[in-house]
Amino acid sequence: MNHRVLLTFDVDRDWPIEKYGRMEAISGMKDDTPDDPAIRATAQGLEFILDILEEKGKRATFFLEAAVLNKLQRDTVSRLSKHDIGCHGYAHEDFLGLGTGYTPTSEERTNVLRTAQAIISDRIRPPMGFRAPYLRWDRELLRLVSNLGFQYDSSETIKQATALQAYETNGLLEVPLSTGTDMENAIISGYLWQLHEGKRSVDDYLYFIRNQAENPRIEYSMLATHPWHLYLSTGKRSYLPGDELQRNLGAFRGLMDQIEDNVMAIDEYLTHLSEQNKP
Ligand SMILES: [Zn+2]
Repeated sequence: MNHRVLLTFDVDRDWPIEKYGRMEAISGMKDDTPDDPAIRATAQGLEFILDILEEKGKRATFFLEAAVLNKLQRDTVSRLSKHDIGCHGYAHEDFLGLGTGYTPTSEERTNVLRTAQAIISDRIRPPMGFRAPYLRWDRELLRLVSNLGFQYDSSETIKQATALQAYETNGLLEVPLSTGTDMENAIISGYLWQLHEGKRSVDDYLYFIRNQAENPRIEYSMLATHPWHLYLSTGKRSYLPGDELQRNLGAFRGLMDQIEDNVMAIDEYLTHLSEQNKP
């Protein structure tokens, strides 16, 4: 199979959920604060993912919640720096206020983006991409992101995509996610949460990718997940015990083994596009 699989990770706190009345998220697992996020599962999941990628000699894209990055060990940060780095808010803000009832002003949005960008720049390098927390975005947000010097956004989802490629919008390159179909012809998203929650199999995701690969108008498939989801279940609201954890890690590794030749980071895909467009 000669088809790109863009592999992306939203590195946010352990299961970020909305808190009514403020834009920052809290952890669904334990009481935390915007500046001191719960990252027990996130940190473990990240190590596991980095191990696999290093073993396979592959790069991926990591959208970082800046408050989480602040808490990661220096060694983890140095391993992350080999990969494509993006921004996922400072404290997983709901920029639209859809789940919090709190709609930030343009100035508040800008301040959050600036703070997050400064932290990521300081600890790694200026983030090239952006993915909105909860995938909640509007044109103004993307314009702010573009004005701050980000090069691409990956917050949009093309539903049941019949064509898929990066395109220019609001001064950015948009590199959308997409949905497709699984083995039962049901709608499947590139987010792997159903794999982690035992609701879908590795084969469903392989079917989704192969199906997209057969369409010449689809330039890539994009997978996405959260490092914490390897180590906790939102359905059971618990950190996974040994046997369930091993099953979960095994499923993810099984998927990676199947697609390792095709996996790449978003920045690698964009480099390929710009080389292709050279006169
Ligand atoms: Zn997120």
